[in-house]
Amino acid sequence: MTSAAAAEAPLLRIGGLTKRFGGFIALDNVSIDIPLGERFGLIGPNGSGKTTLIHCISGAFRTEAGTVVFLGEDITRLPPHLRTRRGIARSFQIPRPFKSMTVAENIMVAVDFTTVAGDLASAAQRRDAVMSILTRTGLASKADISTAKLSQVELRKMELARAMATRPKLLISDEAMAGLSGSEVDEVLDLLMSLSGQDMTIIMIEHIMQAVMRFSQRVMCLDAGKIIALGAPAEVMADQRVQEAYLGT
Ligand code: ADP
Ligand code: MG
Repeated sequence: MTSAAAAEAPLLRIGGLTKRFGGFIALDNVSIDIPLGERFGLIGPNGSGKTTLIHCISGAFRTEAGTVVFLGEDITRLPPHLRTRRGIARSFQIPRPFKSMTVAENIMVAVDFTTVAGDLASAAQRRDAVMSILTRTGLASKADISTAKLSQVELRKMELARAMATRPKLLISDEAMAGLSGSEVDEVLDLLMSLSGQDMTIIMIEHIMQAVMRFSQRVMCLDAGKIIALGAPAEVMADQRVQEAYLGT
């Protein structure tokens, strides 16, 4: 692909993606284009395939059929670490900090991983990069404490900080707000809003519908591995099939 064509391609293009576990079809012919800079909400009842779709985008799962194209390049067969280097980062539904390390050390691991030779060469530059991420995510005052001392909401923020440390073009947040109180949900939502911008797309998976509504420019709803609705948040929420999927009928 020429660079001009790559510039016109959507950030992420998923075409006909199918994922099976044995005879069970977890994703069934899913296709979607997501442009750079979009705030994209991904919803669907438990077991509808949201996390599976994220695994297929991040490379944790191989797919049976279909393609994942990122910045105009087919990455369907690329291993996860190379997708990270190309600009795909995700936070996990259950935070997975390196527990024996401080907050800053956790972020440093991610900075080191994506730092190419010559870039951020000195220890001071890398420390500055870490502190700048911690400042953006509201964790600067926690830099030198052990992750074991963080509260749940701070751990969720650190997950997002670790993802940001790889300087992604696509940030995927998988239920970063689950189990938090109302005001903590607002804190994480405000953080995601403040991180979003023209040069990064965010896919937010969330069960808290008010958060999805406030955050998303577009929402996609999965049910049993299929896209059942895609569009403006209010339209998708009002869709009869979406309401039925959530009622479990
Ligand atoms: P969601 O994130 O929407 O709650 P998932 O993507 O985690 O749903 O799961 C979709 C379906 O695929 C579920 O029925 C789940 O049990 C199944 N599934 C997910 N991961 C695996 C796996 N590694 N092995 C077998 N089945 C799986
Ligand atoms: Mg999930």
